[in-house]
Amino acid sequence: MHRYDVVIIGAGLSGIIAAQKLKQSNYRVLLLEKGPRVGGRLATKKYSKGKADYGAQFFTVRSDELNQEVQGWLAKGWVKQWFGENYPRYTSIDGMQEFSRRLAVNLPLFLSRNVSYINDQGSHFLLGDEEGKVYESERVICTMPAPQTLSLLANSSLCIEQSAQGALRMLTYEPTYVGLFQFDRPIVFPKNGHMNKKLLSGVERIVDHQKKGISSEVIVSVYMTADWSVNHDGEKDILELMREKTASYLDFHALVSQQLETWRYAQSADTHPHPFLQLDKEARIFAAGDAFLRADDQTGRTRFESAFLSGYDIASHLRN
Ligand SMILES: Cc1cc2nc3c(=O)[nH]c(=O)nc-3n(C[C@H](O)[C@H](O)[C@H](O)COP(=O)(O)OP(=O)(O)OC[C@H]3O[C@@H](n4cnc5c(N)ncnc54)[C@H](O)[C@@H]3O)c2cc1C
Repeated sequence: MHRYDVVIIGAGLSGIIAAQKLKQSNYRVLLLEKGPRVGGRLATKKYSKGKADYGAQFFTVRSDELNQEVQGWLAKGWVKQWFGENYPRYTSIDGMQEFSRRLAVNLPLFLSRNVSYINDQGSHFLLGDEEGKVYESERVICTMPAPQTLSLLANSSLCIEQSAQGALRMLTYEPTYVGLFQFDRPIVFPKNGHMNKKLLSGVERIVDHQKKGISSEVIVSVYMTADWSVNHDGEKDILELMREKTASYLDFHALVSQQLETWRYAQSADTHPHPFLQLDKEARIFAAGDAFLRADDQTGRTRFESAFLSGYDIASHLRN
């Protein structure tokens, strides 16, 4: 069996960045992703003539590390400044999932591999997926939301530090409902297609992807707040409630199709004050991802940049 230096569980942004950086230093690295595509919460729905982001819509930049990377992405034409003159909001030129796919090109990666256990063999780990495939690695990085890491650890044979388990348990996540509405004609909207002010309570953001510049069809994402999503958890007619909440902005007489996306772990209500977490005594297994923030992070929020920096920092740590 091939033995990897590092297996990274999860091909969201943090996993992709960690894999990129480790590969650049000639580590034998492997990404295992349970979904059929990379990106995780950088997610885009495709339509016959259009597309719509339904995870992260844009990202902001505060750190030098991300800023340097963004200059490269701008030069390659992968991202553009969407809005915000003084404080730019960047987005992918053709959908956030497509952007993550570009980032992951040439990375050793298996899709549709749901890792279900990790067993410690002393000198290395054996990781198994739901289909019975087994992978051997000296180190492991878990990049999924903390509750998913905890359930994987509970199904594994590992010596995890109590304090690390406690730190993971602190990271509780909030859900988010996102409605995708397709219209047969342009709708009145701000020029840039983004609205997050003066909305009815419960509505976080509305985005028109035609005006955002990534769709030839009019497809609108409606993001509900975490509180609203918790309070309406499991209700039957979420889309109908969303239509009622947004009827003064969107003309539902022109509605062609609608779809509901539910993020169980959209963002963490709490964050960890370090960009990654060592889980064992010997520093062979780690947790990373957007909830792990640098100590000097001023925002205290899980976001694209915190995922990027977490992947960046865990890779630097292992290389050092
Ligand atoms: C609705 C929504 C809106 C958002 N809006 C914004 C925004 O506008 N701006 C912004 O900056 N941020 C936004 N974010 C946050 C941003 O998307 C995330 O912070 C970032 O994408 C998280 O990346 P990650 O790599 O940490 O985690 P994820 O993207 O969650 O990646 C983890 C990956 O692990 C995989 N995985 C889980 N379990 C297993 C397993 N057992 N085996 C294998 N793979 C597994 C998952 O499938 C997933 O692909 C938003 C998020 C959501 C949900």
